[in-house]
This record gives sequence, structure tokens and C-alpha cells, in this order.
Amino acid sequence: MFNLIIFGPPGAGKGTQSAMLLEKYELVHLSTGDVFRANIKGETELGVLAKSYIDKGELVPDEVTIAMVEDFLKNQEDANGFIFDGFPRTLSQGEALDNIIRSIDSQIDVVLALEVEEDELVKRLLERGKASGRADDQDEATIRNRFAEYNNKTEPLLGYYDQQGKLKRVAGMGQIEEIFDRLCKAVDAVR
Ligand code: AMP
Repeated sequence: MFNLIIFGPPGAGKGTQSAMLLEKYELVHLSTGDVFRANIKGETELGVLAKSYIDKGELVPDEVTIAMVEDFLKNQEDANGFIFDGFPRTLSQGEALDNIIRSIDSQIDVVLALEVEEDELVKRLLERGKASGRADDQDEATIRNRFAEYNNKTEPLLGYYDQQGKLKRVAGMGQIEEIFDRLCKAVDAVR
């Protein structure tokens, strides 16, 4: 199994690059944001709960998010490996993921951290908000809150993975294809 985490602030290009990576390396995609949005659309209990946080630009509580990831991974015995996109977002989630992945006799192989300047992130999010209708991408106050959550709770994970020797920082500015090439080089170096 080969498991990678695509990491970065909101708007860094995690979703776009995941779609290309999963095709090339034949991995299963787990985007916790996508799973929450599917639940919101389906008006499930989880969706109603998640929406109350997502609309404010806050992280959904760890217990809820971790339980959802465990549930997803239970039904994936045939997978070659996973791309974790938007998960983990806190140190507790990172530790939980290590335990979950160890329980299936596997490991996180590489963490690809996309680096993008903040002005560019805001521009991308507002553009995506217009195109997709995602409410949390349309409101500047919500976007600012998502950055604050990222800086306070998610960024510490960079140190966590750096200490484990798994962190690869990749420039996330420029054309989609050139960013993809940089990510593939980082993957191929450890695969
Ligand atoms: P994303 O699609 O990854 O940008 O996520 C959209 C929103 O879903 C985030 O702003 C959070 O409110 C919530 N979310 C997604 N993934 C997580 C996670 N791993 N932990 C907590 N909240 C999350």
C-alpha cells in the first residue's frame, strides 16, 4: 500500500491535484470536505452537524471527523492506497490516522505540503465560490476564519510530519500541470 497526504491551506489546490494524482497512482481519494458536503446535500444527521461548523469557517470536531474517516476506511479492503485530502487537520487527527493506518498494517508514506501565498489563496477561493456556489468560499469573513483555523490547528502538523521525515514542501504557485509535475517528482522519490 502507498498512502499520501496532500496538505495545505484552503485554496492551495489539494482537490485539483488529488484528482490528477489518484488517477496516475491508482489511489483511493478521501476528502473529508467532500464527504461532509455529500452529507449536507443528503440532509443526514452528520450533514446538519457539519454544516453548523462549515458555514462559520470552523473545523468540525475531531471525534466526529475521525469516526467518519474510520467508517470510510473500513469498507476499502481492495485499495492500493489512499490520498488523504483535507485530513488530518489537527494533531489529534494526525495521531488518530497513524493508529488507524497501523491497524491495517500500513503507514503514511509521504506528506505533500502545497505552499501558496495568502493573496493568491484568497483570489482562488473567491473565484471557486463564484463557480461552485460553495457558501464558505463566497464570504471573506468565513475565508479569514478558515485561515485562522489553519494557522492555529492545522499548521502544527507540518512539524509532526517533518520530525517523522515524511514532509515534502512543494511550490503550489504557477500552472496546474507544472505543480502536478513537482508533486509527482516528490512521490516518485519515495515510492
Ligand atoms: P475542504 O473541502 O477541505 O476545504 O473543507 C471544507 C470544510 O469542511 C472545512 O472548512 C471544515 O469546516 C470542514 N472539514 C473538512 N475536513 C475537515 C477535517 N479534517 N477536520 C475538521 N473539519 C474539516
